[in-house]
This record gives sequence, structure tokens and C-alpha cells, in this order.
Amino acid sequence: MSGRICNPNSVVEAHQPLMLVDSHAHLQDVRFSKDLSLVMDRARLSGVDAVICISDRIESSHGAIRLATSFPEITASVGIHPHHADTWSGQTSFELQALASRPEVSAVGEIGLDHYWPGYDRDRQIQCFMEQALIAAKLNKPIVVHCRDAYETLIDLLSSDRTLPHHGVIHCFEGTANQADQLIGMGYYLGIGGSITYPSSHDLRDLVKTTGLERILIETDAPYLPPQIWRGYRNEPAFILDTLKILASSAGVSEIQAADQTRSNTADLFGLNQAFTQHACGKNPMTSISDRAEISLTAGSSAKYHAIDVIPEAGSKFMLGWDQLVGSARRMKSQNRNVILNMNEPALKKYKTRLADLAGLIDTLTIHMRDVDRLCCEQGQGWDSLTELTRECRQLIPDIIVEIPVGGKTGPATLKRLIEKRLKVRSMLADFRNEEQYMDDSIPAGTHNHEES
Ligand SMILES: [Zn+2]
Ligand SMILES: [Zn+2]
Repeated sequence: MSGRICNPNSVVEAHQPLMLVDSHAHLQDVRFSKDLSLVMDRARLSGVDAVICISDRIESSHGAIRLATSFPEITASVGIHPHHADTWSGQTSFELQALASRPEVSAVGEIGLDHYWPGYDRDRQIQCFMEQALIAAKLNKPIVVHCRDAYETLIDLLSSDRTLPHHGVIHCFEGTANQADQLIGMGYYLGIGGSITYPSSHDLRDLVKTTGLERILIETDAPYLPPQIWRGYRNEPAFILDTLKILASSAGVSEIQAADQTRSNTADLFGLNQAFTQHACGKNPMTSISDRAEISLTAGSSAKYHAIDVIPEAGSKFMLGWDQLVGSARRMKSQNRNVILNMNEPALKKYKTRLADLAGLIDTLTIHMRDVDRLCCEQGQGWDSLTELTRECRQLIPDIIVEIPVGGKTGPATLKRLIEKRLKVRSMLADFRNEEQYMDDSIPAGTHNHEES
């Protein structure tokens, strides 16, 4: 896909960039093994400048430490998740303590209690949780707590044993307002993730409205629990912006205020201040971000419609549906970037009733015409519907370019004249002959600790 056009009319205004921290992501998960550096590029482009990489076993704890040594934005948290409490032993305790003592490790977790999924030994979970919490207390590191359907037990444990650290986060909080008060009162933060964007999550939005953001951290729990607009896809740190929007509006503050508050909460809890001021590259990560972004929506040979979100400097791509495309454009626009949308003619026709969604989000639309020879032969109807479509697009998008394929029967000069006369838009020649065929590699759905069963 060619991306040679920069719209000279779009002004990139100076703005305060959003800077965000993802306080909970499982980036050592196998689902990130192929493209983690692209995932981190997209995170940086979205303003995420720190990610706490959370573990669930000894192996994933090693993985988190490996990532923390490779990426300046990543900090590790090590621990045994309640689902793996049966692996807890003297040996594991010894290994975990050694891992937790390392300088790349800022917390112990996720550890906790899970009474939602059946088949786990609850006493074993309690033992595994308490012993790890004590290791954290000894090392003076915070705990990242996973709790599902076990809030009363958790609060009893935390309030009855004063040797436990009161220094941590209850991630993916889904308890009641009263339980939130008790936990905050004891000194804990609450982690809020993609589930706040789900239509049914009224309680969570109400909670944030009452508690404010002073004790809230924002998280993705990637690759799990994507925000509503990305449901069915692998979650990743860049998607945190969709969660931030709902978090900010629920709390009645601006997105920048919500980003700042949750970022400073996370920095305080995990001791990240050092990392913020000096990145390995020695500069603010936002300064290297391109002001251009491209999204493509094409109809492939299998007649499947999908979009590809292209970040030019990374050359990455992933699959989107229409709603995700609009969300993606909105995200890029909120960063004041010059958004270019590439669509081929069949995709434009397919989504013609939804084009109004794009108003104000796209700077340049390029329309790829693949079958102009057919149009030229037909003379009539094909042109009429296309004329109407481009007229509609002109009302929504300031700059439209029709790309004419080289190598057709009709000469490029004739085509250019026809397009500019009939469609009243700019045109340019494009070579699609080597364009790659995009494969459908959408992410299979999986169950996770906090997903619905
Ligand atoms: Zn969890
Ligand atoms: Zn998690």
C-alpha cells in the first residue's frame, strides 16, 4: 500500500501529548511472541511510556524479567497466580524470592484468590497468596492482587494480618463500592481496565464517579479483556486509550487529567519515577512520533472486508472491522496526527451508509480504483454511483485522491481527465501490481481469569 501523500492543508497544532502507563499487561504471553516490538511501537505512538509486565508462574516471571531488560519501558512483576497455586512449594518460594529481589522487578504479582472458576483448592490459594505477600513485605515491594468472587475473604486476610504489605493494587477491580472503600482505606489502589467500557459495567463507572481517580490505576490486562471496541481481538497496551476515555468521562475529568493522575499513581506505587525522567535513548519517547498515520480498508480476493492499521515507520498491520477502523482513526486524530485512509472502491461501496462516522477524523481519503477499464466501458451506471459516493465523501473529508492503476487498457491521461471531470477530485497514478495480499490472522477468542465464562 503506497502512502506518499501528505496533506499540506492539515495543520498539526502544538498540544500536550497524553502520557500513559499500562499498570498490568502480560507481554511475555505467547500471543505477543511474533510481534512484540511492533506492539511496543504502537504503545509508544499512543503515548504509553511504561508498562508493568505481570507474571502468573515461575516461567512467565523469567519472561517478564527478560522483557524488562530488553525494553526500557517495561518493568517486571513476578508471582504465582491463584490458578497455579498447586505449583507452590518450598522450592518455588525460594525461586520466587530470588526473582523478586532482582532490580528489574518492581512488584510481586499477580497473586491472590479466585473463587469464580471452579476446581481450585481454596486453602492452597490462601497459602500461596499469603506467603508471596510476605515475601513482598520483606523486600518492601508492592503486591499486584488478582481477586475474583473472593473480596470478603481477601479483606479479612489483609485486615487481620498486619505483617502483610498494605502497599499494592487490586487489579481488574470488580467488587462493591463498600469493598472498594475498605481496600482504599487500607492503602491499596484499584486497577481499572477494559471492562469499564463494556455496556453492562454501570457499577464500575458509578464507582469511579464516586471515588475519583486518586487511588485508581489504569491497566489493559493484555492480551485479555480488550475495551469494547476491540472485543474479539488480542488486547495490547495501545488500546488503553479507549479505556482512558471512559475512565475520564466517568470521573468527570479530562483525558489528560485522567492520564496524569493514573500515571503518577502507578509511578508512586511501583517506584517508576526514575524510568520516566531518563529513557535508555535519553529523550522523551513522544518526540520521535510521526505526525502521519495511515489506515487501509480493502476488499481482498476472498471478498472479506478488513482494514489494516498501518504505522508507517513500523510497517505493522493488523485486522480491523469498521468500528475498530473508526476507533483507530479517532485515536490517531486525538494525537493530532494527519490521518490518511486508503479504501478500495468495493470497500467504499460496502460501507457507504456508514461514511458519516468518518466526519472530522480523516484528512485524506485515497480511493484505489482497480477496475477503471470496466467503468470506462460501461459509461453510465458505474460512474453515477461513484460520482455520488465521492460527492458524499467530499462533504466529510477535506482531501480526496483517486488512485488510478497503471497497466490498464484505458490510457492514464484519459482516465485522469475522466476522474477529475466526473468525480471532481484529485487523481494520481498508482502501481498496485506488487501489492501484497493481506491474510486474515485475527485472534482466536480465549478464556481468561477475568473473562466471562
Ligand atoms: Zn488477574
Ligand atoms: Zn492479569
